[in-house]
Amino acid sequence: MIPYSTQTIDSSDLKAVNDVMLSDYLTTGPKVGEFESELASYVNAKHAIAVSSATAALHISMLALGVGINDIVYVSAISFVASANCALYTGASVEFMDVDPYTGNIDVDKLKVQLEKAKSLNKLPKALVCVHLSGRSCDMKAIKALSLEYGFYIVEDASHAVGSVYENEMVGCCTYSDLAVFSFHPVKIITTTEGGAITTNNEALYKKLSLLRAHGITHNPLEMENKDMPNFYYEQIELGYNYRMSDVQAALGINQLLRVQEFVDKRRELAKHYIDLLKDVDVRLPVADTDTNKNSWHLYQIGIDKGRRDEVYRQLRERGIGVQVHYLPIYAHPYYQKLHKYEKLEGAETFFSNTLSIPLYPKLSNLDQSMVASTLASVIDRLGD
Ligand SMILES: *Cc1c(COP(=O)(O)O)cnc(C)c1O
Repeated sequence: MIPYSTQTIDSSDLKAVNDVMLSDYLTTGPKVGEFESELASYVNAKHAIAVSSATAALHISMLALGVGINDIVYVSAISFVASANCALYTGASVEFMDVDPYTGNIDVDKLKVQLEKAKSLNKLPKALVCVHLSGRSCDMKAIKALSLEYGFYIVEDASHAVGSVYENEMVGCCTYSDLAVFSFHPVKIITTTEGGAITTNNEALYKKLSLLRAHGITHNPLEMENKDMPNFYYEQIELGYNYRMSDVQAALGINQLLRVQEFVDKRRELAKHYIDLLKDVDVRLPVADTDTNKNSWHLYQIGIDKGRRDEVYRQLRERGIGVQVHYLPIYAHPYYQKLHKYEKLEGAETFFSNTLSIPLYPKLSNLDQSMVASTLASVIDRLGD
């Protein structure tokens, strides 16, 4: 089966992992800090905090922003469930925001209407989690303007968007947000096996996140309540977690970051090639890159309407092409339906039922890519109108 995405591991990755396995530190050593500074410098943010997953990153992002019981968090309806679960972990409630039926990214006009309504009911959100679906950035300038007008924090779920560019800046630089979260799961742009990170330019948030990642414990005398204590002494000053990334994971991440631009460039090249390969096929192609806005192409999502999507999915899978659907609207999962009577959102429903992710990853050969395109063409052809 040709997967929709997969990791790119080479012998230099194996050597990096091997070397750290034979070093003094498997965890809480120097590799994590090194990975963090390389990541921060790649996305042009002041700080990066590496953690055990993007899910952990989202959780402590909520906590660092003070989200808790009685708070409301707005979340893009089309995403992986972790984008919303993080708010529930804190006792907050989630409201889902509709998306553009073409891109799956948050619909800013509808967001504005929702905020206006919330304001009149005194139910404004504490934070918004916006998702850069497939790696294509949301309209962050408009979202930032709304956050200033209505007063909410912005967390970018940039799990798909390592290497993406928005208005000539790297996603994760946090020009338009408080925090940005990345995932290093194997299907994403770079991998640390499991792993995630948060970037920010805010010193106070950075300190809070660092505590929350490791039990809320500080070793820094300046942060301690008790002064002039002996060297062994440390204090727990928050309720934190063990959400650490290990040095083994970080060593892999450092080595992957050396090739991140190569991975993203290759994905962009393949995405461009799909435009050529699919130009005569009755599918809607994703929004193309511009000089100032570039997708990382974590996903290549095509539109197949007229109710043919499920059949195309079935037939391509039968032919060994590992297409996938990203995503069922989060509110449609049974857990969320039992939690609250969430109403269907029009854009999210349309996007969900018409969209299919086809294979795209750096190792995808030209031959396999052509095979994917020609198989898709013949399946669509035979289905007709
Ligand atoms: C993968 C993903 C996550 C979760 O990432 P993990 O590192 O597996 O916890 C969260 N949000 C989105 C949009 C994702 O794609």
